[in-house]
Amino acid sequence: MDGKRAGYGHGLRAVLSSDVRFMWLEITGRCQLRCVHCYADSGPESGHGTMTAAVWKRVIGEAADAGVRMVQFIGGEPTLYPGPAHAHRSRAGAGP
Ligand code: SF4
Repeated sequence: MDGKRAGYGHGLRAVLSSDVRFMWLEITGRCQLRCVHCYADSGPESGHGTMTAAVWKRVIGEAADAGVRMVQFIGGEPTLYPGPAHAHRSRAGAGP
């Protein structure tokens, strides 16, 4: 799935207000735990969703272009996501 088919063809700049500097990206529903209080109903059998790593990278790039300077990956357990989206954190100015 590419970004246009995923509904991101108009770019984030068009939908973000100019003072948005921080985003949470829920990159997976998978988690190694199965907490009964989980807000996301995450667990070992949950999937990573339909967003590919390429689409996440595009979203992060567009967010950076729109002024976002910090992205926090959430889930689920974001380190279980197999894609390289984490490698683009510096694009959004999120530090080392
Ligand atoms: S995402 Fe958090 S609350 Fe949910 S199952 Fe995993 S560790 Fe527990």
